[in-house]
Amino acid sequence: MLDRALIDGLFPADLPDPDHWEQLYPARELPEGARVTRFAPSPTGFVHIGGVYTATIAKDVAHHSGGVYFVRIEDTDQSREVEGVAAQFGRAFEYFGIASDEPTDAPWGPYLQSKRELIYLSYVRELMRQGLAYPCFCTREELAEMTKRQQATKIPTGYYGSWARWRDADPDEVAAKLAAGDDYVVRFRSPGTEGRVSFVDAIRGRLEHEANRNDVVILKSVTQSPRLPTYHLAHAVDEHLMRVNLVVRGEEWISSVPLHLQLFAALGFEPPTYAHVAPLMKQESGSRRKLSKRKDPEASVDFYVDAGYPAPAVLYYLRGLANGRLAELPLEQALTTAISLDECGVAGPLVDMVKLADISGDHIATLSGATVLDAVLDWAAQRDPELVQVITNNRALAERAIDVERVGVENPRKDLVRWSDFRPVYGFFFPELFDLVSDPADERLGGLDASLVRKLAADFADSYRYDADQPTWFGQIRELAGRHGFAPSPKAYKQDPDAYPGMLRDAANVIRVALTGSTRSPDLHAVAAALGEDEVVRRVRALVG
Ligand code: GLU
Repeated sequence: MLDRALIDGLFPADLPDPDHWEQLYPARELPEGARVTRFAPSPTGFVHIGGVYTATIAKDVAHHSGGVYFVRIEDTDQSREVEGVAAQFGRAFEYFGIASDEPTDAPWGPYLQSKRELIYLSYVRELMRQGLAYPCFCTREELAEMTKRQQATKIPTGYYGSWARWRDADPDEVAAKLAAGDDYVVRFRSPGTEGRVSFVDAIRGRLEHEANRNDVVILKSVTQSPRLPTYHLAHAVDEHLMRVNLVVRGEEWISSVPLHLQLFAALGFEPPTYAHVAPLMKQESGSRRKLSKRKDPEASVDFYVDAGYPAPAVLYYLRGLANGRLAELPLEQALTTAISLDECGVAGPLVDMVKLADISGDHIATLSGATVLDAVLDWAAQRDPELVQVITNNRALAERAIDVERVGVENPRKDLVRWSDFRPVYGFFFPELFDLVSDPADERLGGLDASLVRKLAADFADSYRYDADQPTWFGQIRELAGRHGFAPSPKAYKQDPDAYPGMLRDAANVIRVALTGSTRSPDLHAVAAALGEDEVVRRVRALVG
């Protein structure tokens, strides 16, 4: 056992004892059964949609139990930290409604692990004082060599048993190393239980896992500043002090539970309940794999925010993946109905972007034109300033445009899935964004003779009148087509195609292309109504030359 003075000399002289923190971090006064949960992302500069999924579950369970949910940024791996990620996290959390319930100055903070250095050091020192942790001076090379030898003899790799070089080292040797200023990490002295450990997971029920006998690193190299712990120690200390009683996290941590239970016991803490969430999966050529940060753009939260998928649609979809029952409910209800942990699957659910697009299109179709425009403006503020200008300058036109085939119809148009669809789908309504079709030989006009196109356009532009009655309005095109020799009916055309330049449909297509730039468009009468007489005439006249 190392000398207490020697141990204390490794830490700041005024480092408080654990008692200090125990008193500083108040118990939470919450109703019986209330769950305190957290989302604990590492700032790798990339928020995975799986993180939103896990956090949504954590927040929902906390809220439905009368508890609290907060976000803790796990930045103990400083080398990986990326500038500005906190801000990026903030935006993503806001967008998906998974921001913390607690202000940054709440009594359970700070919520950034790099700001909790002293807290961790107090507990590491305490473990060392009790002989439950010790310094290890092994170099990277020595550890690599050890692993190689273990692999060569086909025994489990790790720092345990007789391989744990510094576990029971001679205190004088340790003292000499420290006096020489050698670098070291602090390792946890695992109780080294053999066999298997069993525990109850709130999603998976009873689980069994091989016990931990590794003396894992709990405090990193002395050369670091701030001198930070590893995930394992920070996890135990933070959940305890921040009074978390339900840890909802990814299933990749299941194998660490035996170690975590040992740490909670060594520190004298009550362990939380664990709920290990299955990862989101992707179907790829007949097989399933985890949605990958490297390979799949849709793994990133930015993908959804940048394309402008409305958050309620994404959240509705994710909640349905967590609990299939919620996918059967209407959106509003699914967003407020509790997620139940025991209904979360053990196998990872498939993310189907086609399904999400359907959900999103359906959702947008239920929104009022004004709501859609406000959302488009919000989305475009950072991404498409020109669009913001155009919508703002033509707000009334924009509202008329968005209402085309959405208001007063049984099946509203579902042509917007994401806010980024607005410009390609509705852009043609706006004079500033519309390229006039001025070439009478343009191929969109279907190969009609250019001089006929010119005459047709001139005649239309000279005589055009808007009429609210669709059949009356369309009658103008019918008469126009007749005046210019188009076949009165498809049947007549088929009987003698050479007698006509085309059918009514071909004449109407000229007007359609002139007004919309496309051979396919929403109902032409409704488009003309939204554009107004003058704009209709201006667009058609462009073809006259
Ligand atoms: N920082 C860990 C991660 O991002 C957190 C895991 C946990 O929720 O405890 O994987």
